Amino acid sequence: MNPIIELEAQYCAQNYHPLPVVLVKGEGVYVWDDNGKRYLDMMSAYSAVSHGHSHPRLLKALTEQAGKLAIVSRAFHSDKLAALLEKICQMTGQEMALPMNTGAEAVETALKAARKWAYTVKGVAKDQAEIIVCDGNFHGRTISIVGFSSEAQYKDGFGPFPPGFTSVLFGDADALEAAINPNTAAFLVEPIQGEGGIIVPPPGYLKRVAKICSDNNVLLICDEIQTGLGRSGVLMASDHDAVKPDGLILGKALGGGMLPVSMFLASREVMNVFQPGDHGSTFGGNPLSAAVALEGLLVLEEEGLVEAAAEMGDYFMATLAQLNSPLIKQVRGRGLLIGVEFYPDQVSARKICEALMCRGILSKETHDTVVRFAPPLVIRREQVDEVVKQLAEVLDELAG
Ligand SMILES: *Cc1c(COP(=O)(O)O)cnc(C)c1O
Repeated sequence: MNPIIELEAQYCAQNYHPLPVVLVKGEGVYVWDDNGKRYLDMMSAYSAVSHGHSHPRLLKALTEQAGKLAIVSRAFHSDKLAALLEKICQMTGQEMALPMNTGAEAVETALKAARKWAYTVKGVAKDQAEIIVCDGNFHGRTISIVGFSSEAQYKDGFGPFPPGFTSVLFGDADALEAAINPNTAAFLVEPIQGEGGIIVPPPGYLKRVAKICSDNNVLLICDEIQTGLGRSGVLMASDHDAVKPDGLILGKALGGGMLPVSMFLASREVMNVFQPGDHGSTFGGNPLSAAVALEGLLVLEEEGLVEAAAEMGDYFMATLAQLNSPLIKQVRGRGLLIGVEFYPDQVSARKICEALMCRGILSKETHDTVVRFAPPLVIRREQVDEVVKQLAEVLDELAG
């Protein structure tokens, strides 16, 4: 066994089940292990590395800002935060933003905003606000968030959980409509469920959901931590339905694959529920994160990464669809957020990931049956070809 993996097993909490590879270097779509072997990265750190590893412009922004001023907390202003928030608000059509670090923190921020909006604007009675979520959701790992997960393992052993959440079938707008009552503050939804297994809802779902929410004075909050910033082939996955949510949650790729940067964005009406002292984060909005995130947004635009994700995603899906393996149940996704589902009685997704790893392709299963293909958005056609070729060989071996 690799001594580094052994050492980690001794000291690190065993809350993950990583593939047995030790990575030491990354560049673009590639990463290298401690033996110098090169891999195509089809994981991009759960879609956090959209710009590619160690993007030179982001590396420059990071090192320059680190040498000037990294962290000040929001006890003071820095010269970097405002420009980032102006840019992201202009790109998304939102009015204000509240910067945090990890995705789960930004989701918590959204939940707090929705509840306080319900009490101070909508007029819900004290402590009665309800938030509707979807079966199969993934919004992070805090106690309140896992409390409304439908995944038993996420919750098991971690209760009791805060009340005030109900869950409806994902993709079913009628179920949402039926679940809304006068205490409903918000509907929290991923436009495409990522960790749930790359689940794409029926066409027009979000459009209908947006109408139902606005008819009932319920906030529509889209968690685009994984789907946002070009991943699905448009800037925000909600753009596929031409929907502008009342609240928007970003993370992952917002940090340019360098730092944890997340935020909650909303209208002035919603964001103004926060008064000084209501909410905060020591590191949220720090100038180092802000400088890197702003450069990341500029790179996204100037290198046409959203359009690239659409084009390469279509090509990837079409190429996968030609595989015709008896092991494949379904190929699904949008842009460069692609899941290949296998028949569970035929083969485990984990086994496929291990076989791909030996062939220089890194991916990870989600649930037991889906292999995810979510490379950096800078991937090129011949690299897609290489992935599909290796997958085809793995499937032939396993089927034969
Ligand atoms: C990854 C993810 C989160 C949680 O983000 P962390 O940075 O891991 O806390 C929340 N929502 C969605 C949709 C995600 O994919």
